[in-house]
Amino acid sequence: MSFEPTRPLPYGRQHITDADIAAVTAALHADYLTQGPTVAEFEKQFAAYVGARYAVAVSNGTAALHLCALALNVQPGQRVITTPLTFSASANCVRYCGGEVHFADIDPATGLIDLGKVREILEAHPQGHFTGLIPVDFAGLAVNLEEARQLADEFGLWIIEDSCHAPGGFFIDSKGQEQRCGNGNFADLAIFSFHPVKHIATGEGGMITTNSEALFHHLLRLRTHGITRDPADLRRAPDGGWYMEMQELGYNYRLPDFNCALGLSQLVRADEGLARRRQLAAQYDAAFAQVPGLTVLAPSRPGHAYHLYVIEIADRKGLYDFLKTKQIFTQVHYIPVHRMPYYEDLGWKAGDFPLAETYYAHCLSIPLFPTLTDEEQAYVVACIKDFLMRNEE
Ligand SMILES: *Cc1c(COP(=O)(O)O)cnc(C)c1O
Repeated sequence: MSFEPTRPLPYGRQHITDADIAAVTAALHADYLTQGPTVAEFEKQFAAYVGARYAVAVSNGTAALHLCALALNVQPGQRVITTPLTFSASANCVRYCGGEVHFADIDPATGLIDLGKVREILEAHPQGHFTGLIPVDFAGLAVNLEEARQLADEFGLWIIEDSCHAPGGFFIDSKGQEQRCGNGNFADLAIFSFHPVKHIATGEGGMITTNSEALFHHLLRLRTHGITRDPADLRRAPDGGWYMEMQELGYNYRLPDFNCALGLSQLVRADEGLARRRQLAAQYDAAFAQVPGLTVLAPSRPGHAYHLYVIEIADRKGLYDFLKTKQIFTQVHYIPVHRMPYYEDLGWKAGDFPLAETYYAHCLSIPLFPTLTDEEQAYVVACIKDFLMRNEE
């Protein structure tokens, strides 16, 4: 192999340009460090990007999930269904509010929650047994929310779409229309993260999108301690210009102005980054098409936003360790949530969701990020093929 990379190759990484740095610097020179004008501008532009009416910027994706659970009034004892194949935060938000987390196994062809299995679970219980559904656009592939909405309406559930992996992703609905992740046409609320490995980086950061004006106003209050200054919402007559009311128990989940400046600057390049992710994914698909012993998760799907590029192999640990010696730092997404000791303490156990568990035993996320060069990608492919050939001998 002639090419040697000059930098370590992680599974994902942020891309910060001089324009990003200039945008943050300008925000730092401005009057407001926290709730300045850039917050509202970022919200407006992000809502437009995903095609939703409203957006609320928050301190991270986990805070976004927590606020969604609060806005939907999750209560102790309520039961919510999510996928075992996600980052724990998708489930934890239900626990923050005292609710019970239930899971439905995945479709192994996509890694997404199997809506057929969700239906089986719902049908096996009386109406009202479950109150909500949290599907995840895993790896960047959009859940068919039109189908999820039909199911949710039949059984009286709300939907929070965890779209952390999929800004710019979409599915094709029954009328042949593209439905963008987070556009609010089917889910009550959708959430995004701006952690550095995600498509758009703000350091820490998150966003909630919705088409519901009522939920939007509620989220704004919950983001700032449950406080309102809006004259239309006040319960009492103001006794001065300082007057405000804390009307419910909220939090401080605000995203600072300069983080939003970074987000806005990144958002300008979002389509470019997404196009490069899709191009790299297509190149991986082609390179791995005829490789025995290696399966690609959900290749060539329209609308895939490719947060992750996932391969499945028999000796996953062997490949992970081998690639590490080649300066290629892969990752496993995810250890199924129900196998986390915290969730096992709540009664879940190995064998409960066999398809997610089998997936976990073989999956590996390999480098995929917009600044990955073709040479670096070819090097990753060559190293993986090298490992597979050695293992065959
Ligand atoms: C990253 C991520 C989160 C949490 O986002 P943070 O900004 O890190 O809090 C939630 N769900 C999924 C699927 C994620 O990938």
